[in-house]
Amino acid sequence: MHSITKAANWAEQNQTFIYQFGRALTVEEKAIACLVKVAAPEQVHIYEVPVIKRPDEPELAALCEEYGFLTEDTIGLTLGYGIYIKQGYLTTRLLSHELRHVHQYEQAGSAEAFLTRYIGEIMQFGYLNSPYEMDARAHEVIS
Ligand SMILES: [Zn+2]
Repeated sequence: MHSITKAANWAEQNQTFIYQFGRALTVEEKAIACLVKVAAPEQVHIYEVPVIKRPDEPELAALCEEYGFLTEDTIGLTLGYGIYIKQGYLTTRLLSHELRHVHQYEQAGSAEAFLTRYIGEIMQFGYLNSPYEMDARAHEVIS
């Protein structure tokens, strides 16, 4: 199986998990979603977890290791309409950043389309300098 397909499957499984165990946005959080141009804020779910885990699947785990993606410093991860937040780190700034990734995902049209571009950008530019990450940082709401 191609690594993009594996990543898309992993993202979809985790999105389902976030929907099952997480919560919808509050009124205030929906307003932040609108600020960063999320089209469907009511779809977004947040799940606060002690640790945001790397995929177990060996090829995906190796990719994370190689590109420094999902480390112990990771405090937020967006998978479609599902957002993992590390417990104790939920701020307006972090949420606005993750919600901008939701907007990017909506624009891409599918999990597969988003991940193809996102993974490609990280491989080409590195995590911090990838255009999707730069766009998310540029839209952070500092309260
Ligand atoms: Zn980001």
